Amino acid sequence: MSEESRKLHPSVLIIGAPGAGKGTQGKVLGTIPRFFHCACGDLFRSLDTRTELGQQFVEFSSKGELVPDELTINLWKVQVDNWIETYLYKPDIDIMVLDGIPRNVRQAKILSEYLKVHRVIHLTCPNREELARRMRKRALKENRYDDASDEVIAHRIDTYEKETRPLIEYYEGNVSEIDATKQPVEVLGDIIAEIIKLDVYRDMSKVLV
Ligand code: AMP
Repeated sequence: MSEESRKLHPSVLIIGAPGAGKGTQGKVLGTIPRFFHCACGDLFRSLDTRTELGQQFVEFSSKGELVPDELTINLWKVQVDNWIETYLYKPDIDIMVLDGIPRNVRQAKILSEYLKVHRVIHLTCPNREELARRMRKRALKENRYDDASDEVIAHRIDTYEKETRPLIEYYEGNVSEIDATKQPVEVLGDIIAEIIKLDVYRDMSKVLV
């Protein structure tokens, strides 16, 4: 990684089951100046499926499973360096909104070498049927084949429970629980209320650009 990207990037992590609304909220936050949305699923979906990595993504995601950690972290690092080099992402003034990465404790440990998670926003939606309903709707609207069948949807939720949920314990004491069953605009308001309380937000918002 380049010298600039070797500093610990300030970030907030949005965590939640598939269908909880991470992408919806992350996308909106990413349109606000000084925030940068980093959605790992979008990185994978933008790959050419003829490439080796693109093939791996299709293989794992179509089963509702996670792509192996090394491949995921490498893709993330390359992309972050690209964003920095092209000035899309400015780590000295932008807070990175992590959506979908880290997705397990091992990834979190590896990434701690590159970024500091100042707060975890946990979008809670305890109703599996509601999550599945949202995913089915998304599959139709966004052509997401990983959300297309009930079997894959169920496996994606199980994968979340088994691999991603332990992150909440890993980041214990640094997690804000937010009810993701509210209207999207209310969820957004709740997330913003948490972020603006952070020291890192206050410090970075003092920098004039
Ligand atoms: P998402 O759009 O975040 O739901 O991600 C879609 C799919 O991409 C997941 O089901 C995984 O197969 C893969 N994926 C996204 N992020 C990660 C990650 N951090 N680690 C491993 N696999 C991932």
